[in-house]
Amino acid sequence: MSQTAPASVAAAIEAVLVDLPTQLLVGGAWRDATDGATFGVVDPATERELTRVSDASVADAEAALDAAAAAQHAWAARAPRERGEILRRAYEEVVARGEELATLMTLEMGKPLHEARAEVEYGAEFLRWFAEEAVRIEGRWSVAPNGATRLLTMRQPVGPCLLITPWNFPLAMGTRKIGPAIAAGCTMVVKPAQQTPLTTLALAAILMRAGLPDGVLNVVPSTSAGAISGALMADPRLRKVSFTGSTPVGRTLLHQAADGVLRSSMELGGNAPFLVFEDADLDRAVDGAMVAKLRNMGESCTAANRFYVADAVADEFARRLGAAMAQLRLGHGLDAGVDVGPLIDGRQRDAVVELVEDACVKGARRVTPADRELPERGHFVAPTVLADVPPDAALLREEIFGPVAPIVRFSDEQEAIDAANATEFGLVGFVFTDDLRRAIRVSEALETGMVGLNRGVVSNAAAPFGGVKQSGLGREGGPDGIDEYLVTKYVAIDA
Ligand code: NAP
Repeated sequence: MSQTAPASVAAAIEAVLVDLPTQLLVGGAWRDATDGATFGVVDPATERELTRVSDASVADAEAALDAAAAAQHAWAARAPRERGEILRRAYEEVVARGEELATLMTLEMGKPLHEARAEVEYGAEFLRWFAEEAVRIEGRWSVAPNGATRLLTMRQPVGPCLLITPWNFPLAMGTRKIGPAIAAGCTMVVKPAQQTPLTTLALAAILMRAGLPDGVLNVVPSTSAGAISGALMADPRLRKVSFTGSTPVGRTLLHQAADGVLRSSMELGGNAPFLVFEDADLDRAVDGAMVAKLRNMGESCTAANRFYVADAVADEFARRLGAAMAQLRLGHGLDAGVDVGPLIDGRQRDAVVELVEDACVKGARRVTPADRELPERGHFVAPTVLADVPPDAALLREEIFGPVAPIVRFSDEQEAIDAANATEFGLVGFVFTDDLRRAIRVSEALETGMVGLNRGVVSNAAAPFGGVKQSGLGREGGPDGIDEYLVTKYVAIDA
């Protein structure tokens, strides 16, 4: 356990908040909310307020959409290379200010600094990737089968977008949407999560310095997410919504999108199965499990949620995973040597603790000690391994979003696949096996948008990220990522 010297955190806050915008960005101007409202951003490790941010009202969000709609035509007409070079310059500055951005993320979100640094790299990569994609938007030319006409297709920006992001990856969830929208020639209104608006504001300032024209990017931190999204989605000038967050909110947005027949991209919740077969390299499986479970303290949509382990290796896997988790150091993410930070808030912590208690009451066995000492302040949960988890435990059905690994045994491959697929979610699955045929068979059988084969992380800016079933619609990143922001127009040409 680690306790942070308040002085070091205070110094970090002071250094990182200097010059950080805390107002709304509307039409290229930083300004207060029209009613002057603000809300506090809190460090989840100390429960202290870091700073206050302007709290956009519906009227402010409508002003942001006015600016986005006004900028759309000229922005779509800008040369693709210019759009790409703005993204490239932003990429360079994000990398150059990596330490500052990482510190900011640790402060507002809680993740350990080394993970925040990894997110800077990952998040910056979307800016670089889409800087390169901006100049590769292509159409097609073909002769109609009857030879009478020529068929021309072109790709055009979809138009003004509403981008709503969650708190768990404050930089990467922003760049994964803003990058392709800019590359495609779309303007946008961004609504960051109220718990982590600071990183989005810092990113917006970087993009403006990189030469983004006024009105292309508008940012409206707010405590009125539902009211803002409802008003903007009812406005016919809005052409697209892209959302990353929980499945219940995603469903609500899809209902609202239906009224305006809005293009929708939805990156929603997960309930990832992690399968370990008897032929797996167990060291690799434990290493993979540590990353898949503990990255972001388990507060990740791709976090391994259910561990299905072959009978022959289940006890050994549980023992090794428990031993590795018990060694982790909890504390403020800015402290050197800290492996696990706090959860985002008290509600999230209580929900995780309740899921563990429910599993234990129903018969799960704790592999890690139950009485681990936690830091006095902050929303900490000790990394926990549970073995012999019964099928009716709630944490096998629900997204845990915390550092808890429930282990269930299986006796044959089909049983493992059936259990893995017995969920309404389908974001990612992890498979550990050294048998190539089995690896292919199981990867094909999993009802997920992504598979981690002998690895615990799948995220990569060059890959299409997204889910099936109730984990979402559409893909972010990779060559597919820009498609979400483009429409296809076809011109029939008389030959
Ligand atoms: P959330 O509660 O759904 O919030 C996500 C965003 O939606 C926030 O900006 C939030 O604003 C906003 N929001 C809340 N209610 C809204 C409403 N009625 N209308 C419009 N916007 C609304 O999710 P979260 O707790 O921040 O994030 C965790 C969830 O995100 C998990 O389920 C996780 O799996 C999922 N996630 C998915 C992916 C993926 O790529 N599939 C990636 C990361 C996270 P406020 O902050 O003001 O509430």
